[in-house]
Amino acid sequence: MTRRPASVTVRVPAKVNVQLAVGGPRPDGFHDLANVFLAVGLYDEVTVTPLASDVGDPTAEEPRITVAGPDAGQVPADASNLAARAAVALAARHGLEPRVHIHIVKDIPVAGGMAGGSADAAGALVACDALWGTGASREELLAICAELGSDVPFSLVGGAALGRGRGELLEPLETGGTFHWVFAVADGGLSTPEVYRECDRLRGDAAVPEPEASPALIEALRTGDAVALAASLANDLQPAALSLRPSLAATLAAGTEAGALAALVSGSGPTTAFLAKDAESAHAVAGALAASGTCRTVRVTTGPAQGATLL
Ligand code: ATP
Repeated sequence: MTRRPASVTVRVPAKVNVQLAVGGPRPDGFHDLANVFLAVGLYDEVTVTPLASDVGDPTAEEPRITVAGPDAGQVPADASNLAARAAVALAARHGLEPRVHIHIVKDIPVAGGMAGGSADAAGALVACDALWGTGASREELLAICAELGSDVPFSLVGGAALGRGRGELLEPLETGGTFHWVFAVADGGLSTPEVYRECDRLRGDAAVPEPEASPALIEALRTGDAVALAASLANDLQPAALSLRPSLAATLAAGTEAGALAALVSGSGPTTAFLAKDAESAHAVAGALAASGTCRTVRVTTGPAQGATLL
């Protein structure tokens, strides 16, 4: 009999959308996307441990969730947590009880457009697969990820990828270097569905073209050219995020004035992302943003980063 580990920890990265092209609303309410993801080096750590029968209700069928970190209070510690839903989905497919304690050490901004919840879901899935010895194939893990949310498959694979459909149909992209990023974390979050609704409202009856990935952007990723990447960064959700949170304009301006090659809202926001020429410039931009009083905290990191990784 194979011995099961006492606990398993998986590290999962945040993402920035270097291009987010949004089509019109589909009949199912989702939008077709051309979504170019880049994983960046801000990480959550997800640890899973078998649930001892003396903890809580021994007949409970739900995972137990605990969360640590400065923003832990904003993360649901119940069955609605995406990490819990991932464990339940894997257990159901394999005829197991999801009796597991999931502990999340949260460093990815919550509701910040950096796919923190998706990262935790991918992390919990990989961790439970190792803990339970379910031996799920990569295809099965990706299929469960896609059921859990549009951004979850990318959290599993990391690196850089083009997501089509609602973002879940992934094609890995080559990257030729390290990109230096600064993220300005805003006070409070923005609801992703609300930002999509605002995007539709602002567009009104205007014709919306089919979302297409930019060849220039893909080439810039491939060659590791930060200046070329800066010239092609694009986020169709940015006008909607700015409409719901007008104060983000001042944050974007502060980073650009401090020498960022480009500034954009990360995904559905309200985190803003700044691409810098090199590490030195990234630190200068971060210092200026911190002094500007236009954001809550500032983080400096690089991308691409690895997807869900067993520690
Ligand atoms: P995305 O970029 O994928 O749109 P996001 O980064 O804007 O997502 P998340 O941090 O994933 O947002 O959180 C969105 C909401 O999901 C939170 O407000 C929270 O209520 C819920 N949520 C469920 N599980 C988690 C989790 N493990 N971590 C964070 N939020 C979670």
